[in-house]
Amino acid sequence: MALPSLLAPLSAQPRCSAVITDFDGTLAPIVEDPARAVPLPGVREVLARLSAGVALVWVVSGRPVAFLVDRLGPDLCLSGLYGLERWLDGGPAEVLEAERWRPVVAEAVARAQAELGAPVEDKGLSLTLHHRTRPERAGELQAWARAEAERSGLVVRQAKASLELHPPVETDKGTEVETLARGMEAACFIGDDLGDVAAFTALDRLAGEGVHTVRVAVESEESPAELLDRADLVVDGPAGALDLLEALASALPASPG
Ligand SMILES: [Mg+2]
Repeated sequence: MALPSLLAPLSAQPRCSAVITDFDGTLAPIVEDPARAVPLPGVREVLARLSAGVALVWVVSGRPVAFLVDRLGPDLCLSGLYGLERWLDGGPAEVLEAERWRPVVAEAVARAQAELGAPVEDKGLSLTLHHRTRPERAGELQAWARAEAERSGLVVRQAKASLELHPPVETDKGTEVETLARGMEAACFIGDDLGDVAAFTALDRLAGEGVHTVRVAVESEESPAELLDRADLVVDGPAGALDLLEALASALPASPG
């Protein structure tokens, strides 16, 4: 793939540029059992190449940071649980405001397991109720999540074929992208899901401050129209995202020495 001209400012000024990307559905194909998601072959290598040449390369995901480290290695910068957890310089950097919600989440996980008998993913600082394999239960899980949010003070978020309960701490992909990309000359974000729309909106705000911004949507059968409509570039599945990252890595100036 030739580098789309919209991304040329990133390769021209890599030391003032940010490349931020989602994980599931973007770097890793969506699979029925979310525990089995793995990045496409070549993803780790291209992120390492980009990290060597670009000021900021960061993966922002709804997954726990520990999961991302397991799949992508310890050398990348990562935000897990939509920014409730971070990993940088080879180690965890927790967001303190979120930590006091850990026991509340543990209680909600126990209740979900006892009451729902549905796939409950315990993420430590949040939990996910999956209905990919049982779409007919989506309404029931939604009602349960709403009642649990009311009771516990956690907040509900919609994701692809799932619902999440989070601490009421103001982090999402938008706050992460805004924090990470502020001060850069150019920034792109790549994502495939509703949660990534907030990242696009953050880029809109940065664009208003003069940053060159590029919104990349990864298209699949499940892509929300809201995301596709707002994208500057649309790529075909995680393979398309990988091609784009490889084109960008190949367009970087050769590093000295
Ligand atoms: Mg995703």
